[in-house]
Amino acid sequence: MLKTLRSKILFYLLLVSLTGIMAVSFSLQWGFEASFNHYINENRTQRVSQLVNALKLEYKERGAFTGERVSQLFYEQAMTDSLYYKLYTPNEILLMDSTSIRGIMEGLGMRNNPYLEDSWLTATEPIKLEGRTLAVLKVYYPKGFIDSEYVFLQTIKKYLLTAVAVTVLLALFFSMLFSKRLTAGLNSLSVAVEELTKRKKGVRVPLDDLSLEMKRLGIAFNDLSMSLEKEERLRKEFTGDLAHELRTPLATLRSQIEAFQDGIWEPTPERLKQSHNEMMRLVRLVNELEKLLAAENPQIRLDKIELEAGELLGSMKELLFPVFREKDVELEVVPPSSPMVFHGDRDKIVQILTNVINNALKYSPEKRKVRVSAVQEGRMAGFLVEDEGIGIAEKDLPHIFERFYRGDKSRDRKTGGVGIGLSIVKALVEAHKGSIHVESEIGKGTTFKILFPASA
Ligand code: ADP
Repeated sequence: MLKTLRSKILFYLLLVSLTGIMAVSFSLQWGFEASFNHYINENRTQRVSQLVNALKLEYKERGAFTGERVSQLFYEQAMTDSLYYKLYTPNEILLMDSTSIRGIMEGLGMRNNPYLEDSWLTATEPIKLEGRTLAVLKVYYPKGFIDSEYVFLQTIKKYLLTAVAVTVLLALFFSMLFSKRLTAGLNSLSVAVEELTKRKKGVRVPLDDLSLEMKRLGIAFNDLSMSLEKEERLRKEFTGDLAHELRTPLATLRSQIEAFQDGIWEPTPERLKQSHNEMMRLVRLVNELEKLLAAENPQIRLDKIELEAGELLGSMKELLFPVFREKDVELEVVPPSSPMVFHGDRDKIVQILTNVINNALKYSPEKRKVRVSAVQEGRMAGFLVEDEGIGIAEKDLPHIFERFYRGDKSRDRKTGGVGIGLSIVKALVEAHKGSIHVESEIGKGTTFKILFPASA
C-alpha cells in the first residue's frame, strides 16, 4: 500500500481535499440549520405579535374579544405556520380556540414530515391594554419544522450534497492529474537513469514539461549523460589514435630489424640512425603521453607562486636561444615596461611556453622571427607568442588542441611532432584557470595568447 510516490501524493492530496470538503459542508449545514432555526423563531414571534395586535385592536373597537378580526388570522397562521391559539380570560375561561383547525388539517393529511415531532410546545402571551391584563393567549406550535420549512431544508441539503459530490469527484480527478504530473518528471528521469546504466547512448530527459526544480535535475542529468558520452568517445578515440600512432614506428622498426636479421639490409651507420630515429619517436611519444596524463589529471598539484612575466621571459630566452640559433630563426623577447605579476606553477608555465615557442620555431622557415612578449588584460596577465611561420589552416584551428591532431601529418613526421604538445598546453592552462587563444593566417604566421589569473 502506498509504495509508489504517485500513490502517496494522490493519497495526501485526497486526504487534504476531502477533509476540507467535509469541514466546509459540515460547517455550512450546521450554520445554516442554526440560522434557519433563528429565522423561524423570529418569524413566529412576529406572527404571534401580529395576532396580539389584532386582538388588542378588536378589544379597543368592540370592548370585547369577538373574534371578528382574528378568525381569518387563526386560519392563515394554522395553514402556513402551524400556529394555534387558545385565548383565556385572566380567570382562565376559554374565549377562543383555534387548535381544532389542527384536527381538520391532520385529517386532510397535510402534516406529514419526519422533522415534525409529535410533541407540541406552548408559550403564553398576556394581552395587556393600558397596563391591564385583558386576556391570556396560549400559543401552540410544533417542535421541529413544518412542511414548507422542511421542503426548503431538504432542497438546500440536496444542493449541498450535490456540491459535495461534485467537489469530491473534482478533487479525485485533479488529485490524480496532479499526482501524475508531479511524478511524471521523476518517472522519465528514473527511466533515463536506468537506460544510462545500461550504457545506452543519446539518453536525454525532455525538459519542456518539467517543473523548475525538476528541470534543474533534468539539465544536470543531460549534462552528465553528454559528458559521459564525450568521455567514452574520447577514450575510444584516444585508444584508436594511440594504436595508430604506435603502429607506424613499430612497423618500420620491425621491418628494419627483420631486414638486418635476414641479411637483406646492411646495418650501415646511416640505416642504424634511421632505426634509432624511429625508436626515439616512440620514446618521445611515450614521454609526451606521460606529460599529458599528468597535465590532464584532475588532481594535478600546482605549486603556485607569484611570478613576474619579465623575469620568466628572460629565462625562456636563455633556455631557447641555442635552438633558435641552430635553425637560424630570430627570437625576439620583449619584457614588460613595468613588472607584471601573475600566479602559477613556475615549472608548468615554463612547460607551456616551451611547447608554444618551440612550435613557433618548428613551423617557421629560416631567417624569420618569433616574438615573445608580455601582455595584461583586466585581471589576467600572460604572454603573446607571434611567429611569421607557415600558419594554420582555418579548418585545422578548432582541432589543434586535440590529442594527436597534426595539421600536416606527412610534414610532422619529419619535424618529429606527435600532436600532443598543444593538448598538454591546454590542460596545463586550464589547470591554472587561464585561457589560451590562437589567431593564424596561412603563409603569414600564428599568434598564441596565453593568460593567467593575476591573483592566486
Ligand atoms: P605537434 O607535435 O605536431 O607540433 P602540437 O599539439 O604541438 O603537435 O600542435 C598541433 C598542430 O598544430 C601541429 O601539428 C601544427 O599543425 C599546428 N601548429 C601548432 N603551432 C603552430 C604554429 N606556431 N604554426 C603553425 N602551425 C602550428
